Amino acid sequence: MISDSYKRPALDSLSNSTYDVVVIGAGAVGCASARELAARGYKTLLVDRADIGSGTSSRSSRLLYSGVGYLAPPFPLWQAPFRAPQLWQLFLYARTIMHCRAELVADMPYRLTKHRFHYPFRKGDQYPHWLIDFGFRFMETVASRQVPLDYRTLSPQQAAEESAMIAGLSSPLSRVAVFDEYMYDWPERICVDTALDAEKRGAIIRTYTQVTQIQRNQNTWDLQLTEQSPGLEGQTHITTRAIINAAGPWVDRINGGNQTNIKRVIGKKGVNVMIRLPDEWRGQGLEAFSSKGEPFYVFPWRQYHFVGPTETVVTENPDNVRVLNSEVDYILNETNLLFPKLNLKRHDVQHSWCGVRPMSTTDGENVSLPVRAITDPTAPGLVTMTGSYIMMHRHAGRMAAQAIENYLGQRDSAAKGMLIQPPSDSSDINIPHIIKTEHVVRLSDLIRRRLPDGLNPLDLGKSKAEKLSQLAAQSLGWTDTHRKQELQHFFNETDHIYHLPN
Ligand SMILES: Cc1cc2nc3c(=O)[nH]c(=O)nc-3n(C[C@H](O)[C@H](O)[C@H](O)COP(=O)(O)OP(=O)(O)OC[C@H]3O[C@@H](n4cnc5c(N)ncnc54)[C@H](O)[C@@H]3O)c2cc1C
Repeated sequence: MISDSYKRPALDSLSNSTYDVVVIGAGAVGCASARELAARGYKTLLVDRADIGSGTSSRSSRLLYSGVGYLAPPFPLWQAPFRAPQLWQLFLYARTIMHCRAELVADMPYRLTKHRFHYPFRKGDQYPHWLIDFGFRFMETVASRQVPLDYRTLSPQQAAEESAMIAGLSSPLSRVAVFDEYMYDWPERICVDTALDAEKRGAIIRTYTQVTQIQRNQNTWDLQLTEQSPGLEGQTHITTRAIINAAGPWVDRINGGNQTNIKRVIGKKGVNVMIRLPDEWRGQGLEAFSSKGEPFYVFPWRQYHFVGPTETVVTENPDNVRVLNSEVDYILNETNLLFPKLNLKRHDVQHSWCGVRPMSTTDGENVSLPVRAITDPTAPGLVTMTGSYIMMHRHAGRMAAQAIENYLGQRDSAAKGMLIQPPSDSSDINIPHIIKTEHVVRLSDLIRRRLPDGLNPLDLGKSKAEKLSQLAAQSLGWTDTHRKQELQHFFNETDHIYHLPN
């Protein structure tokens, strides 16, 4: 039997109050929404069927991205003069993205690493070089002065002298664009920091709590919650005035959560592959287009790099989506096309992972651009969030809170505008305190999302698991049998998420 962690409220106790808002899903968007709502004075409950930040927010490419991919128009270029409204929308979108980038760089520099990225201009490229150059210069113009892209172009020779990675590119190159970009060093922890900050502002958090039914009462909503922490069982019903459905690619899969029959998200599967590239390439990144014409990257990751992602529309439940060997082969092949001397094979793969992007759609069939906070007059107070990147999570949180404010009216609150506190020095990390106060229920919560070990590209935290399981057992009162079960679960889950091709 798995004991509850220190702060975890009993499932039944949640039904004692009526909430202003229940936020479903503690990914980047749900956590930011709960933080913003609590700051605006709403009585907020944040629930997730698993741990904070364990969904799509843990499967991304970890890039605080400003590249030109955002500006790629969803129509042939010759139509541009006749598509002024769509171009205007792209402009607004690009501007929002650059604001979000500057906001995160200002607010959480300790969660970001800065890198030099390269974009090679090659013969036969899908987009004309002048257009890509214009796109970069445009993004630079809308970027904050404090967080510039530092964009410039170099001759192939100059670029190869500056970067060993560029020296390894297949020729012929006509020029190479160079710009600065940031990566999240740990997206899962961004979610945890945000959720803990929401809690500080008054939100209640309960992880391993699945919303299994949503039902409209006269003026309120009834939510059925089902216990998901291992060894515990139970169900309860709670009442809330409003709901933020922030279940990412699962938003349409919650019973009663979609009052229309039109899908609100299109799932786009993406795979990334971790490999060891030459040491002289460390820290450098590359943005290019694949032979299919899709954005393709080489991302720096500590002493490693990862490459990808793929883009495939999927209709199956995101829970069942796995990396396929054929997808790994495709990524290796594309990398070899860019860097023929690498001659990468399956045995060069350290691991790979995938996730499903929750893309917005307005008609259920085509992807539409920006983040949406979808309301429906037949379901008053139910707001569904779609289409956000981690980069835009604060923006999405503000949109969610604005939609609730429009529905419930404004509240007075002093908690607005506080900054998330930076973490203490790593030498000060008090693991027992983290276990007791940061909603740790399972060992994998601790290794992947409360401590950075789970993202170590070498062993994904496996070498620390035994020691951490003992600390968790002491703090949470686990029996030795229970500790071993958690250890086994962590190893099985690691092998399940981080695929190794055979
Ligand atoms: C391959 C790939 C690459 C990407 N690259 C980048 C990138 O480089 N930069 C970037 O900024 N973004 C990137 N993204 C996008 C980003 O990861 C997602 O858009 C973002 O994480 C979505 O966050 P979310 O909170 O909406 O969803 P999620 O993180 O999936 O959160 C939804 C949560 O809802 C919970 N949930 C589901 N159903 C229920 C239920 N019934 N009851 C309770 N809880 C429930 C889930 O457990 C989950 O934790 C990438 C995504 C993918 C897949």
